[in-house]
Amino acid sequence: MTLSLLNRKLRRAFGGRVTAGAEDGCIVVRGALSDWGDVIRACQMCAKPHSKRHVVNDIAFTGGADAPMRLPAVCDASLDGLRPDVLIIGGGVSGASIARELTRWKLDVILVDKEADLALGASGRNDGEIHPGIDLGRGSLKHKYIRRGNAMYPRLCRELDVPFTRPGQYVCFRQGFLRPAVAAYCLRRRFIDGISDTRIVSGKKLHELAPGLNPDFRFAISNPSSGCVCPYGLTIAFAENAVRNGARVSLETAVTGMAAAGGRITSVTTNRGTLYPRLVINAAGVFAEEIAKMAGDRFYSIHPRRGTNSILDRKAGAYFDAIASVKLLQGRRTHTKGGGVLHTVDDNLLVGPNAVETWEKENYATDPESIEAVFKKQRITMPGLSKSDIITYFTGVRAATFEEDFIIERGRKTANLIHCAGIQSPGLTTAPAVAQDVAEMAVDILREGGPVLKNPAFDPVRRGIPALRKMDDGARGALIRQNPDYGVVVCRCEEISRGEILDALRAPICVPTLDGVKKRVRPGMGRCQGGFCSPLVTEIIAEFLGTDAADVKKSSSASPVVSGRTK
Ligand SMILES: Cc1cc2nc3c(=O)[nH]c(=O)nc-3n(C[C@H](O)[C@H](O)[C@H](O)COP(=O)(O)OP(=O)(O)OC[C@H]3O[C@@H](n4cnc5c(N)ncnc54)[C@H](O)[C@@H]3O)c2cc1C
Repeated sequence: MTLSLLNRKLRRAFGGRVTAGAEDGCIVVRGALSDWGDVIRACQMCAKPHSKRHVVNDIAFTGGADAPMRLPAVCDASLDGLRPDVLIIGGGVSGASIARELTRWKLDVILVDKEADLALGASGRNDGEIHPGIDLGRGSLKHKYIRRGNAMYPRLCRELDVPFTRPGQYVCFRQGFLRPAVAAYCLRRRFIDGISDTRIVSGKKLHELAPGLNPDFRFAISNPSSGCVCPYGLTIAFAENAVRNGARVSLETAVTGMAAAGGRITSVTTNRGTLYPRLVINAAGVFAEEIAKMAGDRFYSIHPRRGTNSILDRKAGAYFDAIASVKLLQGRRTHTKGGGVLHTVDDNLLVGPNAVETWEKENYATDPESIEAVFKKQRITMPGLSKSDIITYFTGVRAATFEEDFIIERGRKTANLIHCAGIQSPGLTTAPAVAQDVAEMAVDILREGGPVLKNPAFDPVRRGIPALRKMDDGARGALIRQNPDYGVVVCRCEEISRGEILDALRAPICVPTLDGVKKRVRPGMGRCQGGFCSPLVTEIIAEFLGTDAADVKKSSSASPVVSGRTK
């Protein structure tokens, strides 16, 4: 569409309050609007799916204001003056998987994240589904990476000692008359998209395979290659393996500015000093656009999109061991890869997510309307779902571009920068494949300054922490004899022992907070949500650190658990 035609459309829709202009190979949308839905609509009108000519949103939004980016409370000079080969900004699954890939080479790699742990952005707030590749437009980067990423998971999770299952996914239909059209769609996916295992199953077969689903379903698309992983467990494993292979990880480290000259980043400012990296990788999730701006290389915009999930007790998980969702016939395209009911690798049920546009990048609050909406839809999938089984919920924020595709490319104006941005769903699925290509791109760029050698000592294997809960009596007994701390159960809901907690604290990336331990070995993840075990875990952390319990934090240096002794 020509610019004048586009502006005519915008004028008709918004009465002249927004205009679009072509600048530096992008479409820049300007004006002022008070409704966030209108901002999204205006930019979407200008966007062409998967186009390299991205939409940059410069519309002044007058209907609300986003809070400033959350910054760490610490301030020191621990990174000051460092000159790493590669600085990775963002400790989500993108940054962590890229860090690991880069350690296959003899490179000095530093990964920084502003939060006190890894995976506190979208990578710790998603469904953990390893998608089979549904509804992805051909020609998109999502389409390019999804099958490759999906296929890498079994070996990757073996190497990193991370639980991975392939429970399979069912997309269920109540309208029998749709079957011929859906069968044709499946054929297209098999022969054009290369998803060879996709097939139609009858309603009868579906109810045999996955009892508990709505008896009204007439048929379903079955995708056996759908998998499940613990997304934050995987991110931590990537980062730990990277550290074992020589990378450094600096948490509570926010990038707050950059200096650039002659089309290159010359320095990067953080709350822990100024670094002078040869190459920067932007894997900053919802803040990727801000990083691009700091580097003088902003050619896309991120619009945050919230998604809320409920986590149900394991007793609900015992009744269903797959992934399923109902296909509703709705006119408008939704921006979630489905949402549904999912049996997690830890045997809970996950119900959700929805997809709600927002201007707030870090508002993780969970509202009752989202829970209600998600339950209403998924009760069609599984009528027996009960809200009384909810043990907790969470909200994640997707980092979508207006083209609804990933941006994986070298800086357009800044030569020593790679963007790994717009990584919304299925970014967990694609991460291992994307990481290979980003690392290759990084090595090619660094080779412009001299040879880059392979790291002969690279070891892809990481040993995770033994999970007592998953062992039979014989294995438990052997472990307890070897390490009696494994015989002291601290979290009864999840059967987590003192030994597992201490091993989490001794891991290559030690995060000695209640949440850090919870993410690694799960005390507090069960029905009581830490009501009983939190004081015991606090004491174990204090003992490990040689401090008082009052010094132990919940999640970051600014979150005390207790304020002092009462008796
Ligand atoms: C509700 C929901 C469900 C999803 N479900 C699935 C699914 O089932 N399967 C799937 O494949 N994908 C799913 N996704 C998508 C997937 O979660 C993301 O694509 C993926 O986690 C993105 O990872 P990332 O590392 O790029 O970003 P993030 O995980 O957001 O990491 C970015 C990191 O950058 C850090 N950062 C930002 N700015 C700075 C700065 N200035 N300085 C230092 N650090 C900074 C942040 O703290 C953050 O940790 C889902 C997403 C959501 C929200």
